This record gives sequence, structure tokens and C-alpha cells, in this order.
Amino acid sequence: MNHLPPLRAALLAGALCASTAVFAAPQQGTGVAWDIVEGITTEIGPRPAGSPAEGRARAWGEARLKALGFSNVRVEEFKTRAWTRGPESAALTAPYAQPLAITALGFSVPTPKGGLKAELVYFPTLAALEAAPDGSLKGKVAFIDHAMRAAQDGSGYGPYGNVRRQGPTIASRKGAAGVVIRSAGTDSHRNPHTGVTIFASDVTPIPAGAVSNPDADLVARTAARGKPMAIDLRLEGKPFPDAPSGNVIADLPGRDPSLPIILVGCHLDSWDLGTGAVDDASGCAIVTAAALAAQKDGQTLRTIRVLWSGNEEMGLTGGGGAHYVKMHGSEAHAVAMESDFGADRVWQVKFNTAAQNKPLVDKVKAALWPMGIVPHEGLADGGEDVSAIIAAQKLAVIDLGQDGTHYFDLHHTPDDTLDKVDPAALQQNVDAWAAVLGVIANEPGTIGKAGA
Ligand code: ZN
Ligand code: ZN
Repeated sequence: MNHLPPLRAALLAGALCASTAVFAAPQQGTGVAWDIVEGITTEIGPRPAGSPAEGRARAWGEARLKALGFSNVRVEEFKTRAWTRGPESAALTAPYAQPLAITALGFSVPTPKGGLKAELVYFPTLAALEAAPDGSLKGKVAFIDHAMRAAQDGSGYGPYGNVRRQGPTIASRKGAAGVVIRSAGTDSHRNPHTGVTIFASDVTPIPAGAVSNPDADLVARTAARGKPMAIDLRLEGKPFPDAPSGNVIADLPGRDPSLPIILVGCHLDSWDLGTGAVDDASGCAIVTAAALAAQKDGQTLRTIRVLWSGNEEMGLTGGGGAHYVKMHGSEAHAVAMESDFGADRVWQVKFNTAAQNKPLVDKVKAALWPMGIVPHEGLADGGEDVSAIIAAQKLAVIDLGQDGTHYFDLHHTPDDTLDKVDPAALQQNVDAWAAVLGVIANEPGTIGKAGA
């Protein structure tokens, strides 16, 4: 989003001397949401689950939420499975020597000392790998390709993301010594995308990495030449159990504390490659600023609770969402919502509410209508950080769908940085969320989930 590189701008302006060096000011927004994204990305930066940085982020969040006037601000720590990155590199060694831009997937195990030198076998799809005979990849490295494309609703991430989630398990079942995938991403930068893989309990975890899209194209073109391929792979990241993580929780108490509460969630941890601006500092900024904005005409009827969850990225079923249920599963909730899809504009709304809540749903739709946000078929499902409490209490859910066209260009890459956040789009999210919270947090009647 920055325009002329600052150094070049300064040179062109003739301004670069010791006393008058002028650097273009970075993009700057205003308001509660911007200040949270800017603050976390500047003062904390990457904050992988279980790391000291994630701990510093919790302390930062606790202090910020107190300063913003929230009540009952507390950190609830828990132990979790996590993973830490090590040195990593890869190169094709046959038929053509070429370096590959690679990053390890979360829960990869380390390659042997000196690296893994092996035949590389190309599979155009996950289905092609599944069709390979058991044991046929013994001692080899599997390469799994796919064809994810950008989509406004980000819908490619579900099916194509399975290459990352399940591919390494399937490769291990076939006897592979390692696995490399095309990143689950839609950009053409030479940035690989990280993210967790999920090894099934009955397979041996193997080293697993993702290469950037241009590098995956190179592997595909090389494979098409039909000559045997070989790779030299070095991935030294490893899992570590019992890592410290934690949730940060804060309330804006309602006028009637006996009514079930409204829960709004996001996650505080990020991957290590970028600074987690869009995933998910923006989500925490949006829900927090909107909760405050919903009080602009005075205290809401119901309590609004903000959950800045720990370890969403590597949590699987043992992250912040599960810990929240452990700590708060006995309190009555009404609705849960989550923001974890970047900072681009909200364009659609989905519901999962009881039939008798139609008047409430109509009120929400009417509040969003002037903002160009339209209802969408299909049930809302919340997100990783609130899904456990939704399941445990059969809660109503409302999803504000953001434009995800560019989300998977940045997702889990070094490019997930503050300059990608458009202050106006961020504020549009806050306004949309505040409009929804203003309606549901002032609803006196029962709010329920469809069919519950
Ligand atoms: Zn996320
Ligand atoms: Zn993520």
C-alpha cells in the first residue's frame, strides 16, 4: 500500500543529507482498532503459540483492554501442544539444480542430520497421492500440487488446504520419508505459506514443508519433462509439548447481568513469518473496537465479552477455544461471533439462529443494509476460537463475511504486515460489527441456534 519507496522518494526530492533525511511516513490510521493492530505489530510482532512473544502479547492485551475501560480483564493460562521453527532450506538436485523457497509446516519433524537427499515424486493432486500403492514411496519425498485460486469468500482454502492438513499423513502412510506441498496460497510471490499439518495418531510424523507458488510451478514443469527428480531437504523445526499459552478475556458488563452474554472472539497468536497483522491482530482490533462502539448510546442490555484467544494456529482441539469452555462453560452465553479473516471490507452476513428469532435477524439485516452488506444463504459457523463454546452450548451464531480475495495472498507468509491493512476497510469492519452488536446486545428475548 506504500507508494514510492521512501529512500527513492527522498533522493528524488534531493532531501537526503545527514540533517534533513526525509522518510515517507508509514500509512497511518486512527481509532481504537487501528491503534490495536499498529500496537501489536509494532510492539510485539510475530507471536507463535507457546513462545515468549505470545506471553508478551497477553500482557500487552491485558494492559490495553484495561486502559480501554473493560472490566474483569484477566489472563487465563493453559498448557498446549506447539511447534517451533528451525533452520530450513531446499533445492532440486536433479535433473536441474535449482534452489526452492521453502518453509516447514507446523508439526513437521526434523530431517536427519545433514538433510534428506531423496528422489522427489510429483503428484498433481491429493487424490493422485491417495491412489499410490502403500509402501510405494519408501525412502522418497512426495510433492503434492493443487490448484487453489483466489475467491471472494475464500472458499478454496477448505478443499485445497487439505493438501497441507492431510497430505503429510497420507504421504507417510505410503512410506514417504518426507513431503513437500504447493503452499495453500493464491499469490505469485516467492513466499511459501506455513500453517499446521495434522498427523494422524497411527502414522509416523515426517518432515513436511511448503514451497512458494513460483517454486511449485517450477517443480511441475520439471516433472512434466519426465526425468527423475531429486531433492535435498533440510527442515529442522520440531514439536514441543506442554508449551505455555493463554487467553485474554475482558467484559463490558450489561445493564442486566442475568441475561446470557454475547461473546466476540479473535486470536492473539500468529505465525512466525510475518507480524500477524491480518491474521489475526485485525480480528482482535475489530471485535474490541466494535464492542466499545456498541456502547455509544450507553451501556448495552447484555454483557459483551471479548476473547483474545491463545494458540489458535497450532491448537487443533487443544487451543484457546477449548480452554475457554473449560473455564467458562458453566456461564450462560447467547451468541458467539468471531473475526479471523483479515481486514478487508465486510460484504455479507450469515446467520445460524432459531426460527423464532426472525424479527431479530431482520433487525440485524436492516442495520447492515445501508452499508451494502447483504444476507447470504448457508449457516454461520463462527470460527476456531468460538466453535467449542458454540458446540457445547448450541449457541446462535452470526458471521460477518469479509472480502477474502486477497487474504490468501498474505496468509501465513512474511507479507502479513501492517502496511497491508487499509485503515478505511478496518473501520468499515468496526462499523459493521458495532451495528450487529448494537442490535443483539440490546435484545431482551431468548436468542437461540437453528434447530436447537
Ligand atoms: Zn487466524
Ligand atoms: Zn492463521
